[in-house]
Amino acid sequence: MTSMLAGRDISGFSGQLIGPGDEGYDEARGLFNAMIDRRPRLIARCASAADVAAVINFARSERVPMSVYGGGHSVTGAAVVEDGIVCDLRGLKGIHVDPDARTVRAEGGVTWGEFDAATAPYNLAVTGGRVPGTGIGGLALGSGSGWLERKFGFTCDNLLAADVVTADGRHVVASETENPELFWGIRGGGGNFGVVTAFKLRVHPLANPMLAGMLLYPPEMAGGVVRHYRDFMRTAPDEVGGGVAFITAPPADFVPEPVRGHPVVGVIITDAGPPEAGMEVLSPLREFGPPPVDLVAPMPYVAVQRLIEAGNPHGMQNYWSADFLFDLPDEAVDVLVQHGTHPVSPLSQMLLIPGGGALSRVPEDATAFGLRQSPWNTHFLSMWPDPADSEQNIAYTRAISAAMNPWKTGRTYLNFIGDEGVARVQSAFGPEKYLRLQALKRVWDPDNFFSHNQNITPA
Ligand SMILES: Cc1cc2nc3c(=O)[nH]c(=O)nc-3n(C[C@H](O)[C@H](O)[C@H](O)COP(=O)(O)OP(=O)(O)OC[C@H]3O[C@@H](n4cnc5c(N)ncnc54)[C@H](O)[C@@H]3O)c2cc1C
Repeated sequence: MTSMLAGRDISGFSGQLIGPGDEGYDEARGLFNAMIDRRPRLIARCASAADVAAVINFARSERVPMSVYGGGHSVTGAAVVEDGIVCDLRGLKGIHVDPDARTVRAEGGVTWGEFDAATAPYNLAVTGGRVPGTGIGGLALGSGSGWLERKFGFTCDNLLAADVVTADGRHVVASETENPELFWGIRGGGGNFGVVTAFKLRVHPLANPMLAGMLLYPPEMAGGVVRHYRDFMRTAPDEVGGGVAFITAPPADFVPEPVRGHPVVGVIITDAGPPEAGMEVLSPLREFGPPPVDLVAPMPYVAVQRLIEAGNPHGMQNYWSADFLFDLPDEAVDVLVQHGTHPVSPLSQMLLIPGGGALSRVPEDATAFGLRQSPWNTHFLSMWPDPADSEQNIAYTRAISAAMNPWKTGRTYLNFIGDEGVARVQSAFGPEKYLRLQALKRVWDPDNFFSHNQNITPA
């Protein structure tokens, strides 16, 4: 309880309450996307699942809007609600690895950096976020795409059970055997049905070290590189993850002077098999060109998980969009190259992530996640430091996205987009799954209490 909140109490709450004017308030309401600047009435830093239930009950009884803060990496800024209560999970950091059962129980405030560090000593891993600061909560509930997805499926494909606090403050378990429809919905449907205080995930043995890194090419080689990568991925084994990234080469020592600080096309390589086998499998990629910069080397998985961390700094302005493609013909490659090699901001990225492998073998109706059969996920990701440059960066992102319209499936990846409206959320799932999710929402959250998310409406 703090002075700013004198006279108020949350019954049964044992964590810390932070209000406007309190020390740490600005830091606690901060988000990855600095474009979002919201001032909640109260930030309730939960210390237990019981605290989560207490905050939910309090917010409901006081009729105050509530948001849920996992890792704060949603580009929509959904974790923080203006003039409401933030149910802050960042204190829920418990992680228990069972190496014999190959399972991990991780609480709702754990980040991927923390999760990967806990499983690394056992050479076990599951598909996780590509930047360590991302919360396991928002990422897994939105399905969870990562470098290992072609080998192990999405994060949600490895979810065995979840402890959920519901909109009426009850503690329930969601699994194949307990509340199975809820379990279906939380594997892709986001935080619409309750607050997950703990996730039980299957983890898998992973080669240590594994082969990973990046091949960098100058923009004039981009078309040939993307076409070659596309053709290579048609028959690549599940072990091969990664993608193509249109980026600006970092001003780092390992980047040769001619491309340093200039737009480049990068082929990101991750290989989940033993490095010797990876050397052979990946040789067509590494020998194509050949690349002026080859940064592929054996490294531990925790290093793989930091490959793109420096390129995604906290606290920038962010405007993101994404779309699954049904095809990537040469004309589409030309469009990507034309836009991707002329970024407005040096921090902006355009990612092309291959589908296929394990994620595509999970039956389409097994989880709420929208579409598994797309060969490519395109992520248009603009990032810049100065709010004065917002207009031109947003226009750039929209232009590149619109130029790809002829090859879009109409399905988007909700983890990768900002607030693009309810129609876009619906289209991410398709009409049938969206209706099923709405029915589920009516059961678990008929008043749409959990609405600060990529929202599924109950009606
Ligand atoms: C730098 C960066 C890299 C990223 N890389 C990837 C990637 O590789 N793969 C990928 O799939 N996505 C990626 N994302 C997107 C990310 O997965 C989503 O933004 C996700 O929502 C972030 O989860 P969070 O817990 O950090 O976010 P938050 O902003 O805290 O939460 C996002 C949403 O999830 C809800 N939520 C969070 N935790 C819980 C919980 N325990 N119970 C119920 N609801 C909860 C929140 O209420 C909110 O609506 C990345 C984002 C960033 C900024």
